Amino acid sequence: MADTVILSGIEASNALYDSLHARIGALKEKGVTPGLAAILVGENPASQIYVRNKTKKFDSLGLKSDIYRLPEDTKEEELLELINKINNDDLFHGILVQLPLPKHIDSQKVIHAISPSKDVDGFHPENAGLVSIGNPRFIPCTPKGIMYVLKHFNVPINGKHVVVVGRSNIVGRPVSVLSSLKSMGNATVTICHSGTPDLKEFTTQADIVVAAMGSPEFLDASFIKDGACLIDVGINRIERDGKSVIVGDVNEASVTGKASALTPVPKGIGPMTIAMLVENTVLSAELSTN
Ligand code: NDP
Repeated sequence: MADTVILSGIEASNALYDSLHARIGALKEKGVTPGLAAILVGENPASQIYVRNKTKKFDSLGLKSDIYRLPEDTKEEELLELINKINNDDLFHGILVQLPLPKHIDSQKVIHAISPSKDVDGFHPENAGLVSIGNPRFIPCTPKGIMYVLKHFNVPINGKHVVVVGRSNIVGRPVSVLSSLKSMGNATVTICHSGTPDLKEFTTQADIVVAAMGSPEFLDASFIKDGACLIDVGINRIERDGKSVIVGDVNEASVTGKASALTPVPKGIGPMTIAMLVENTVLSAELSTN
């Protein structure tokens, strides 16, 4: 049985934070403190935790972050007005609207309303388009974090076969595009989804599997080839032994010894997503001073 290396998102994100100190210092010398406006609509407990964790990191790095908490029954126009106000506020370089939004609000309309130059989540079509043509500005945080982890741990990607399971606009599709770009990955990429008739046929060919499905512990050893590297994006809350626990899309116990490397859940891609939000906000502040 081979050793399976754990690719720690804590270690990789700390390396990124170390590299950001000088960039933040240079901005502060110019009188600029990178600032994030996080907008939270409603009382979704998971969203509250996500936003708190994200803004806590900004505080610890001496960056500005304000949370705008709006009630569940906020009208779409009110949210759009707030976004418009922050779009024109020089103190904020990034705007994050925590998803999901209440059902009566059109998420796409909201994403389109964020100025592309402050869209640090990278969800605006202009930024998604720039990723697609290989000239990225703001790369969505989770896919950007995945690419960073692969690079940080020297996982070979050039010329390898990457199989992405999941095609969402926030994870699966952008990570498939990034890994195929000559400048970022230069891999051969297959993207699978719920319409893929025989998932195993593809995942067993992969050098790197990116699991972004939202299906608890779905991918076990039978889905991978010996020595594959597994990037587990899933965050699933399940009951185990009477306790509520978070697990990924990969069955860690099953693949250990067969996979060459694996991102854990938690402490894998989750911390990388937050780190990349910080990085995108610093980048936005830098672009605003040019
Ligand atoms: P979505 O539900 O938007 O997308 C899931 C994708 O997986 C869809 O494309 C779906 O196919 C596909 N899929 C689901 N089941 C199967 C299956 N059995 N076989 C093949 N494909 C399947 O989820 P997200 O992309 O938003 O998130 C994915 C997971 O990652 C979730 O657990 C989420 O919580 C987590 N996540 C973690 C983050 C982090 O920071 N670590 C950040 C963002 C998300 P189809 O399109 O056909 O429906």
